[in-house]
Amino acid sequence: MTDATLPPPDPGERLPADDAEAVLAAAATAVEAVAEEVDADMDALDVPRRLLLVHAHPDDETIGTGATMAKYAAEHARVTLVTCTLGEEGEVLVPELAHLAADQEDGLGSHRIGELAAAMEALRVTDSRFLGGPGRWRDSGMMGTPANERPDCFWQADLDEAVRALVAVLREVRPQVVVTYDSRGGYGHPDHVQAHRVTVAAVDAAADPAYAPEAGEVWSVDKLYWTAVPRSVLQAGIDALKASGETNFFGVDSADDLPFGNDDDEVTTEIDASEHLEAKVAAMRAHRTQIAVDGPFFALSNNVGQRAFGVEHFVLARGPRGAGVAALGREGDLFAGLGLDREGLDGPNG
Ligand SMILES: [Zn+2]
Repeated sequence: MTDATLPPPDPGERLPADDAEAVLAAAATAVEAVAEEVDADMDALDVPRRLLLVHAHPDDETIGTGATMAKYAAEHARVTLVTCTLGEEGEVLVPELAHLAADQEDGLGSHRIGELAAAMEALRVTDSRFLGGPGRWRDSGMMGTPANERPDCFWQADLDEAVRALVAVLREVRPQVVVTYDSRGGYGHPDHVQAHRVTVAAVDAAADPAYAPEAGEVWSVDKLYWTAVPRSVLQAGIDALKASGETNFFGVDSADDLPFGNDDDEVTTEIDASEHLEAKVAAMRAHRTQIAVDGPFFALSNNVGQRAFGVEHFVLARGPRGAGVAALGREGDLFAGLGLDREGLDGPNG
């Protein structure tokens, strides 16, 4: 969420005001190191279970799906993250880095490459890419803003080019499971809506033998999911914050008044990754310019807080629904129903 309205960070934890170029250079080195590691020890098809997630901005992956990514990475599934923009238009929550903002030096994008790399390290995810390469498409900002009119923004992207770029990744990685946002783009940010459109079109195109044969061998994704947050989970968060004396959770009393959230009965899948909550929180901390980890929501160390962050929800849009193992008959595994065993978990790639 580029436009997170979370409170400012704890003044006890601040980044040095790094020069953006140094940050970019460090990030590039980190990305290369990770790429080499992937080349060296991971041939996609050696890993039985492969999950690919398409997100709009650095930090979306962690907020919405970080625990799930950490869980599958820990279980030696191959987890691939594709991020569509660098999040250049995000609000900078760290005062020392305020100069990076789009309306000042406009250096936030390169800084966020480094934040994302650090977050992936925390989640132990080794395959993280930017759609079309870093900076190919710019954060579109909210509808009606000048950022949204820029020809280089993701909202204005040539869809054919974006789809083709994602098809090449899908055909290379061959994921059985793909995760992105629903058609509303979760909470309606244009980049999230666009990520949805591009992903759906690319999943279809990747399976079409007539589509761009030079972009790799045809691949059919088995299951397609949207990220989701059940309204009951949002309500529990609102109630817990109220009980702790904090009243401003997006300024509402009821989850029904929020512009996002899913009816509980449309949520098909519940991934309990509570064991990986620590990794998710570490990844959230890595996105320092965007997320105030010491805000009141994190201060909720009770079960509601744990549940809100360690259990992540999805809506199955396509593919077989696995057996119900969680509340409301929800499946508890993104790969459920595919007949893939967890063989290989202790193999050389894991
Ligand atoms: Zn976002």
